[in-house]
Amino acid sequence: MTASSDHLARRIRFEGPVSVAEFMADALYHPTHGYYMTRDPLGSGGDFTTAPEISQMFGELIGAWCTERWQAIGLPERIHMIELGPGRGTLMADVLRAASVEPEFRRALAVHLVEISPVLRDVQRATLSGETIQFDSIHWHAGLETLPMGPSLIVANEFFDALPIRQFEKTSAGWCERLVTVERENFRFTLSPPLPAHEIPLLSGIRDTAESGAIAEVRPAAAAAAAQIAAQIARFGGSALFIDYGHHLSGTGDTLQSLSEHATTGVLCDPGAADLTAHVDFDAIERSVSADVDVHGPVTQGVFLRRLGIEVRAEALARNTSAAKANDIAKAGRRLVENDQMGSLFKVMALTSRDQSVPPGFDAAQ
Ligand code: SAH
Repeated sequence: MTASSDHLARRIRFEGPVSVAEFMADALYHPTHGYYMTRDPLGSGGDFTTAPEISQMFGELIGAWCTERWQAIGLPERIHMIELGPGRGTLMADVLRAASVEPEFRRALAVHLVEISPVLRDVQRATLSGETIQFDSIHWHAGLETLPMGPSLIVANEFFDALPIRQFEKTSAGWCERLVTVERENFRFTLSPPLPAHEIPLLSGIRDTAESGAIAEVRPAAAAAAAQIAAQIARFGGSALFIDYGHHLSGTGDTLQSLSEHATTGVLCDPGAADLTAHVDFDAIERSVSADVDVHGPVTQGVFLRRLGIEVRAEALARNTSAAKANDIAKAGRRLVENDQMGSLFKVMALTSRDQSVPPGFDAAQ
């Protein structure tokens, strides 16, 4: 066992089985052993790659989207550009470069990064210390509790999928929570006793009709984060953009997965040493936001980026470059939008404060 799993095994032996959410939280966020706390997991040398790491076009188009939403709320002189889980800072760097096309917008921006990992904060600082960025105007936050007051543009790419999920399994005796225990030196799943109806946090349609053996997931931290973001936007004005892999409608299915060096591994094999994520339930996110904001989408990432003009952007970038580079740009663009790559598994949802037009990417007529 690794140092992290050893610590978790001792905790389980001492306290008893933990929920999948507790297992994930410990594996990902433990201050000294947690996966995100100890490394930069992104890119070809890491465990997984994300859209902004694949192509600068992703962040540039989101920067243009943010510029348009700033205009949609009347060009406020100050606006907070907030990113949740900024990874290496690549998306924010591309957003800020695109924002510079509209100098008044660029000057209006105060940048806030919500990042739990000290290692990634350092990487973000290095990425964003470019000459176009006023270094002292970037603020880091450990969580959403300290979000600044004022109009806000909030972007989260592959943030929600990292938040812990709880899993429930339907058995012949009723719904049980899936727990993790230790047997000899290995982690394995076990089940809680059947839960009384009021302790099953599932939609009644799923709770009452799922077949025996079905697994259903909920993500309390995502619901709380989405509710807080919606409240921020409703109160101060602005927009949020959530991009993640997942599904449009709540349902059943075990989507917990573990990635190490770009390959899937057993979800309980190496807590703290491998990435652990699960599909985002966009339906559940929508249900957790108040009626004081408008919800747009989700639409697939492929549809969203095409409507934002990724093909035109790819052609512009490919001009005046070598044939090999032009080929790389086209290939990266296809990876983001094609249905058999990231185009349909990834979805995009926007929240906007009241009385805004439909944002770019969400209106079929655009
Ligand atoms: N958005 C980036 C990185 C995605 S990986 C990209 O697209 O490349 C997930 C990111 O969220 C990492 O930066 C991770 O450290 C951060 N993160 C995960 N859980 C978090 C939490 N609970 N609070 C704050 N940041 C978190």
